[in-house]
Amino acid sequence: MSQGTLYIISAPSGAGKTSLVRELVAATDNIGVSVSHTTRHRRTGETDGINYHFVDEPTFEAMIQRHEFFEHAWVFDRHYGTSRIEVEKRLSHGEDVILEIDWQGARQVRQQMQEAVSIFILPPSREALRERLAGRGQDDAVTIDRRMRDAISEMSHFDEYDYLVINDDFATAVDELKGLIGAERLRMTRVKAANHALIGELLSEVEGLR
Ligand code: 5GP
Repeated sequence: MSQGTLYIISAPSGAGKTSLVRELVAATDNIGVSVSHTTRHRRTGETDGINYHFVDEPTFEAMIQRHEFFEHAWVFDRHYGTSRIEVEKRLSHGEDVILEIDWQGARQVRQQMQEAVSIFILPPSREALRERLAGRGQDDAVTIDRRMRDAISEMSHFDEYDYLVINDDFATAVDELKGLIGAERLRMTRVKAANHALIGELLSEVEGLR
């Protein structure tokens, strides 16, 4: 069985990353999202083990010491990390895995796995981003300005990624992500490895076939 592909998806908050990824996973077979560990508090509507594994700081620190993280970073004053065992197990079963992580985590993953495919998602305009970050109008301007600064800081790393998707029209952005994964699945090395017998049969006379 061939190894699954690892996808890294990053975006500033407010770009619609989580909704896009949810739609992408629902519409694509054999792909799943890795559930990260975090020390931040659970928000209303979130479930432990589904949105995140919510752990306390000593538990997270102990996992760092035991080298249990594939990558981990300090984002918005909290720890976030991807469990190495979870990702490796799923990839080795041939499943494609998406990591929804920030730019710091993306750098760590690229260093360890050069074949990982990375995608950055941008919002369609500054105004749209600010509107999304303002939420339901319950937050003050200082809070929104801080979120904007955090978003700009994340976006400043967009060109470290392999692919760039702009989430202007939601359905179009989902189609672009689906197309991107479809193309990655047709890469020569991947299809060749999975079709060794067919290629041998079609080209049995050709000597030195790798
Ligand atoms: P939120 O707390 O809003 O769910 O996520 C905040 C930020 O943390 C997002 O930018 C998200 O990409 C990032 N993040 C979530 N999980 C991980 C992780 O496992 N590793 C890293 N490096 N960043 C993460």
